[in-house]
Amino acid sequence: MSAVPSPWSWSSLRTGRDSGESDDAGTERKRPDYCMFARCPSALFRFPCPQRSQARFFIPSRQMIQTLGYAATSATAPLAPFSFARRDPAARDVQVDILFCGVCHSDLHTARGEWPGTVYPVVPGHEVIGRVARTGSEVTRFKAGDLVGIGCMVGSCQQCASCGEGLEQYCESGMVGTYNSPDRHSGGVTYGGYSRDIVVDERFVLRLPDGLDPAAAAPLLCAGITTWSPLRHWRVGPGHRVGVVGLGGLGHMAIKLAHALGAHVVLFTTSAGKRDDALRLGADEVVVSRDAEAMSARANSLDFILNTVAAPHNLDAFLALLKRDGTMCLVGAPAEPHPSPNVFSLIMKRRTLAASLIGGIAETQEMLDFCAQHGIVSEVEVIPIDRINEAYDRMLRSDVKYRFVIDMSSLRA
Ligand code: NAP
Ligand code: ZN
Repeated sequence: MSAVPSPWSWSSLRTGRDSGESDDAGTERKRPDYCMFARCPSALFRFPCPQRSQARFFIPSRQMIQTLGYAATSATAPLAPFSFARRDPAARDVQVDILFCGVCHSDLHTARGEWPGTVYPVVPGHEVIGRVARTGSEVTRFKAGDLVGIGCMVGSCQQCASCGEGLEQYCESGMVGTYNSPDRHSGGVTYGGYSRDIVVDERFVLRLPDGLDPAAAAPLLCAGITTWSPLRHWRVGPGHRVGVVGLGGLGHMAIKLAHALGAHVVLFTTSAGKRDDALRLGADEVVVSRDAEAMSARANSLDFILNTVAAPHNLDAFLALLKRDGTMCLVGAPAEPHPSPNVFSLIMKRRTLAASLIGGIAETQEMLDFCAQHGIVSEVEVIPIDRINEAYDRMLRSDVKYRFVIDMSSLRA
């Protein structure tokens, strides 16, 4: 197992935080010792959890919704049907019938245990589009019948500086991931969007603007926001020369969004066959990154690079493409570390190597509205859920144009 932490689960396990995201579906009792994390040995054997001195113990609500999903039961098991229960909506909860769920490479990293911290069975999926079925008594922003989205987070403390700034993904107590995070309501872990329905605090539900195709909009909830957030943070716009590394789910959204923001976009790919698609998606130039001559011709030419590659690789080859004061932001999260970059490449041009995690709820809504205004959605291949294992294998071969999306009606059939 690698030493790289999972962005959506590990930090919350490590800090042992109270995922105090909303009203409780069940009763909450203070217990000083046991971990709320169901698989923690302290919960099973009732000894003080070494990671949670101030642990709380949650008793699930008696009212539950029986549902069906697809889960991996081990790192090597294929995903298969899995019955489980969702909480009955509490006052600020929204119950959503899931229509579509995108397939992110993070789902694969998690299901196959490539990142530490996977709790089995795991129900992946954090690019969710659905229709509101029911709302709790205090929900003000949604009503039954609304089309909505749910992304990578379903909770955060709502009190720390990051939450206050609308950057819940950096919640100082650890955000609650849509799957494989400690679930304060059930006492187990959260289950994601490869399922029939989901119940989420309204503060983590997004409004789907009119005009966006629901299936093609699903990947905006992760691939879209993960690329939008750094593009906005580093103020990419007209006059900027932007590199995008890797043309997969994140990469194709990065091209579309950077192009729509007015930047000159250069795609770096290992797959020469993706050239025409990249140009059609909005890239101004395409470079095959294995072509040393084409790479050196672009040295010192880019203001910003968004690196989406899901595997360890030589970062120096891309850092050398940055102008003085340029930044390369890593969003790809490979299971194994990259070889360490050469410090002189950074020093000699005051270059920055940075990274970014998904995006906050407000900026996710901003991104969805921007996409509706500009007619931007993902390029998707819609699949029934029983083809999910094949989709994972194809994703590993870079054989996807450019995001698989599960049609959840296939789970109801
Ligand atoms: P994806 O659809 O599989 O795309 C990854 C692309 O990387 C591939 O299409 C390929 O593009 C390139 N690539 C893959 N293996 C490579 C290798 N060995 N050498 C060079 N290039 C390779 O994956 P994704 O869903 O876009 O996710 C990409 C990464 O971002 C994953 O690690 C995922 O976990 C991570 N992620 C991070 C965040 C965050 O918040 N930071 C959010 C979501 C996902 P080419 O064929 O064009 O070379
Ligand atoms: Zn994702």
